Amino acid sequence: MGLFKAPQPVRVEIKGNPLNCIICRHQGFHRRDVQINKLSLLTPDWADPVAVCYECDNCGYLHWFMPK
Ligand SMILES: [Zn+2]
Repeated sequence: MGLFKAPQPVRVEIKGNPLNCIICRHQGFHRRDVQINKLSLLTPDWADPVAVCYECDNCGYLHWFMPK
């Protein structure tokens, strides 16, 4: 009877390549946009300091991507 329905995992493609979890080879992920303002002190040229990470729906491993 959960009030909050768990989001469905999605399949992800990176530049036309299907993303498989590097740990367990799973193909379902949850997307998270992550602010990295605090890290931007090291690289102040970043215009949009948001990274994208995909959390494996099976093992929880985070796959990080920087915007291109
Ligand atoms: Zn996994």
